[in-house]
Amino acid sequence: MKEFVYTSRPQRVVFGAGALGRLETEVDLLGARRALILATPDQRGDAERIAAMLGDRVAGVFDRAVMHVPIEVAREARELARRLDADCAIAIGGGSTTGLGKAIALEADFPILAIPTTYAGSEMTPIYGITEAGLKKTGRDSRVIPKTVIYDPELTYALPISMSVSSAINAIAHAAEGLYAVDANPITDLMASEGIAAIGRALPLLTPDAKDPIVQRARADLLFGAWLCGSVLGTVSMSLHHKLCHTLGGTFDLPHAETHTIVLPHALAYNAAAAPRAMERIACALYGTSAPQAAFDLAKRNGAPLALRDVGMRESDLDKACAIALQNQYPNPRALEKSAIRQLLQNAYEGVRPLV
Ligand code: NAD
Repeated sequence: MKEFVYTSRPQRVVFGAGALGRLETEVDLLGARRALILATPDQRGDAERIAAMLGDRVAGVFDRAVMHVPIEVAREARELARRLDADCAIAIGGGSTTGLGKAIALEADFPILAIPTTYAGSEMTPIYGITEAGLKKTGRDSRVIPKTVIYDPELTYALPISMSVSSAINAIAHAAEGLYAVDANPITDLMASEGIAAIGRALPLLTPDAKDPIVQRARADLLFGAWLCGSVLGTVSMSLHHKLCHTLGGTFDLPHAETHTIVLPHALAYNAAAAPRAMERIACALYGTSAPQAAFDLAKRNGAPLALRDVGMRESDLDKACAIALQNQYPNPRALEKSAIRQLLQNAYEGVRPLV
């Protein structure tokens, strides 16, 4: 076995259907008395439900979280946290809401309790992102990692199936790139393989009938898989796929999870020959023979978008996207080659099934 370094993070995870019922205990364990609850406008109802559960431990509710954490929204939420003398943030929602909690925690010295309702995985990472003047800056800081995470699959029953599919494949992307990361290690490999497998098994079982016990088990498996994949993202470095999606989301405003879903098969195809062990593990976890094709087929069979042109990308912007993806060279199993990356983007734009 090769030598490796594995950094574990001090986080408490409470997992299970109905786990939200433990919220009060978990807030107590954090020693918090004045929680600021964060949500998107769509999830105001969830925030109010939590506020009712916590009673006088709630300092206030801020329900204006939006995608990519605009600096103006972060400032407003920070100011509210200060004014209310909040001593913890409770983020209920997807990556956008957790991201807002992180932006506050960067300045205020208090813990985040995250209650994820998508599969994005931000709750497991020390990575934050803030968008200023159209540019999203990201960084890593151990202060922003949520101290407590409550994973309650019941909170995901209402996540529409189309969003569930792309969000879950977004999670798979973290694990897939983690398997060929320069700093990959046997522990993250285990988490990545099991995370991909749990999601691959569960996605085809989703139906809109949230009362069906099969669907409920599938929802639990998806959230468990998202936890593992998010942990991989938070522990090892990401490569070409994440750089491309960051570019496409940040510069061309494409939707986050759908972009990951579309690009993943093509990024894997680009790296396939340079990372055979990782490809084997991904293919095996998805019961396929080729990792890129298995990722493509998973998206297609579950009705996800397959082509960048269908989510708002313009063909005339592909050259620019390619140029940005080549800036600030970063580790990737295969060297970054301009014409091959341009072809990768063309294939993703058209949504063709990878040939390898
Ligand atoms: P999101 O948080 O923007 O959520 C999308 C929409 O779905 C929102 O309107 C939200 O209210 C709604 N929603 C969430 N859960 C729901 C549920 N259970 N039922 C019904 N509606 C629900 O989307 P996301 O994909 O979770 O997060 C994307 C953002 O997170 C991006 O900005 C991305 O960069 C960031 N992200 C960060 C990290 C990190 O480690 N820092 C990791 C992954 C994603």
